[in-house]
Amino acid sequence: MADNIFQKIIDREAPADIVYETEEVLAFKDINPCAPVHVLVIPKRHITRLREAEGSDEAVLGKLLLAAAEVAREQGIEESGYRVVINNGRDAGEIVPHLHVHVLGGQNLGSLPGG
Ligand code: 5GP
Repeated sequence: MADNIFQKIIDREAPADIVYETEEVLAFKDINPCAPVHVLVIPKRHITRLREAEGSDEAVLGKLLLAAAEVAREQGIEESGYRVVINNGRDAGEIVPHLHVHVLGGQNLGSLPGG
């Protein structure tokens, strides 16, 4: 069993401001937000990062993106626009080794994909 902060949030051993949940996916507010809306969407089943995702993860990867869109809708940033980011590995600044999708919005995010 993976032992990281996101696993603890899934197991309700660590607190989080949960905004969306299904059987397979959990979404909660980032503790250090980079934008007025900054939500992390994670699979409940452990996938370390995108690099480690396999064919058997195809369905849950789709569900993560659909959940990201639903979170954006519920957070009121569907019309204004939002950015969905997955950091993979050192150069991307990945910190937590449990796949997570950042949903960012509520302000102009600039034009660079990584900005
Ligand atoms: P990464 O850089 O790995 O893509 O992003 C990890 C994100 O997790 C960061 O934006 C960081 O602020 C967030 N984070 C780290 N620890 C916690 C925590 O304990 N609770 C919450 N809600 N977010 C966290």
